[in-house]
Amino acid sequence: MPLRIGLGHDTHRTAAGGPLILGGIHIDCDFHLVGHSDADVLLHAITDALLSAAGLPDIGELFPDQAAENRGRDSGEMLRLAWEKVRKIGWNLVNLDCVVLAQRPKLSPHKTEIRRRIADLLQISPEQIGLKGKTGESVGEIGRGETLQSIVVALLERP
Ligand code: MG
Repeated sequence: MPLRIGLGHDTHRTAAGGPLILGGIHIDCDFHLVGHSDADVLLHAITDALLSAAGLPDIGELFPDQAAENRGRDSGEMLRLAWEKVRKIGWNLVNLDCVVLAQRPKLSPHKTEIRRRIADLLQISPEQIGLKGKTGESVGEIGRGETLQSIVVALLERP
């Protein structure tokens, strides 16, 4: 059975004022992420991991940030559209493994809801999604809370 692995990474800068949109949910927080779309750093990394595994153009090519229709756009909708393209050429998802690099907020209270939301968007089971949070140990741009980043690997199979 053919297998393909894809790696996605994304960075967004923080700015004062919540809520934080992360993994398709709204988190009560005193900062948000800045971007052309809704700046959901985790969903963007997932989208790129899936597209990359399938050998398709990346999120920036599919949804250019110069395009007016992508301003403030729901990243869940972008993920769904990208996943449709991947499925259309015959790929199923084996699993996703996701890392969110954030000094704060703590990810653990939100993990269940985020995994459910992603599972819902991709029409898969939450057990197919690994999710962990790592701090920046208070150093560097992550540790100082200047950015949030995400790293995701996706494994696809073509039955
Ligand atoms: Mg992004």
